[in-house]
Amino acid sequence: MESMSFVLFGATGDLAKRKIYPALYNLYLDQKMPSPFSIIGVGRRDWSDEEFQASVRKSVQTFSRRAEMEEMDEFVQAFRYCAVDVTDPEAFKPLQSLVAQREAELQIAENRMFYLSVAPEFFDVISSSIKTSGLGTTKGWKRLIIEKPFGHDLKSAQQLNEKLGAAFAEEEIYRIDHYLGKPMVQNLEALEFANPVFQALWNNQYIANVQITAGETVGVEERAGYYDQAGAIRDMVQNHLLQMLMMTAMHVPKRISANDIRAQKRQVMEAVRPLQKEEVAQHVVRGQYAAGEISDKPAVDYRGEPGVRPDSMTDTFIAARVWIDDPFWKGVPFYIRTGKRMKEKSTRIVIEFKNPLEGLYHHHQDKPAPNLLIISVHPNEGIALQVNSKNPSNSGKIEPVTVDFSAGTAGVPEAYELLLFDALRGDSTYFAHWKEVELSWKWVEPILAAFRENLVPLHFYPAGSYGPDAAEKLLTADGFQWWLDQ
Ligand code: NAD
Repeated sequence: MESMSFVLFGATGDLAKRKIYPALYNLYLDQKMPSPFSIIGVGRRDWSDEEFQASVRKSVQTFSRRAEMEEMDEFVQAFRYCAVDVTDPEAFKPLQSLVAQREAELQIAENRMFYLSVAPEFFDVISSSIKTSGLGTTKGWKRLIIEKPFGHDLKSAQQLNEKLGAAFAEEEIYRIDHYLGKPMVQNLEALEFANPVFQALWNNQYIANVQITAGETVGVEERAGYYDQAGAIRDMVQNHLLQMLMMTAMHVPKRISANDIRAQKRQVMEAVRPLQKEEVAQHVVRGQYAAGEISDKPAVDYRGEPGVRPDSMTDTFIAARVWIDDPFWKGVPFYIRTGKRMKEKSTRIVIEFKNPLEGLYHHHQDKPAPNLLIISVHPNEGIALQVNSKNPSNSGKIEPVTVDFSAGTAGVPEAYELLLFDALRGDSTYFAHWKEVELSWKWVEPILAAFRENLVPLHFYPAGSYGPDAAEKLLTADGFQWWLDQ
């Protein structure tokens, strides 16, 4: 891999410590880091290089999935620190000099990666100062990695994109959606396109419905300041759930390449049927957790959480029915669901196949269960297929059995490792293209309006449940049920 500088804004922050340094170290152990490389950490605090290096060392020791520390001394030598108030364009001059000085010392080509692990209000000032300070004027390439949230609504996302666009071209921008870094989400592509058996079934002739769930057991924790303004619709649906929907529903690309795969995803999002504000209540369930129990421990209601407004109408749960109006998916509902304080921490995609033969078994009391393809994304990773089989020890009764394809998860790289490695080598397949982000905001926009105008009831559900009953009814109305809820 080409030599490069990695400039990390927000180097003293929580995300850098928990995810970015451990990921970089694991890539280093796997010899997947460029050589030579220079990492410049940028933060507000006044730190020496030694203090910065000690903090990197500590975060790797605390958060890395691997314990071997032998190569740590060598690894941290590449790190330098620069205190910059990013709201002051003048403060970028010393940063520019430090980056150039390290490039000269280490004989690094002028390839520069800028990672913005800072609050979103700084995205545009940083990118414009990168341009005006000359940091972004390089003989090599430049790239920008940014974290969510990408805008608060369609308009703010478009404005942000315009501002970033003044300093970086679309192909230079890597928008992280860490769900796209999860190995099982990346594996959807192979499942759909490397398996003719599944590819043949991947359409409305054979699939009855698709269910995408991302459930958390945690509540709002210390993030009320952000979350109470965002809700599950912005925090999870606009980005992660719609990304998983695009990855599940995309059609075979001409070639497996970043451009072709992202073009297929975009086509899916373009075909998602828009909702009118007035019909949101028919297709979207809005919920908020009430008091309840999680693993036998009492849990307070959302409105009782520190920092939450006592009359908050914020959604901590969303379930929605999504239609994709293209010839492959016409008539197949995609159900998406996410919530905090749910009974189970589980992200999974369940594909329910149609069951045209069930009438054959009229002499059986029980109808054969449908075939299910279960893709477990998190915290377990695996693929399972539920098929019907006669049970000889139960009078030959037909029962569903599960064929489990899961591989062990030991040693599987984390999302940030996979994503950073891709960004370092310039592969944008698993980053969100602007068009995907924009189309997702367009779809979400009438839902935001309907919530704002209270056109959709807010259902309360007990902490530790699978959400409000209305989410169950959304499926029973179509003759379906959520699978695998225990
Ligand atoms: P944090 O508050 O822990 O860190 C913020 C960083 O920004 C610090 O390094 C601080 O020095 C720097 N900073 C703040 N003001 C500055 C200024 N004026 N000049 C220079 N530096 C300044 O935040 P975090 O949890 O690390 O999150 C960073 C970003 O990533 C946020 O946008 C957040 O929404 C996003 N994000 C975080 C997580 C997570 O798990 N923490 C997950 C996804 C996305």
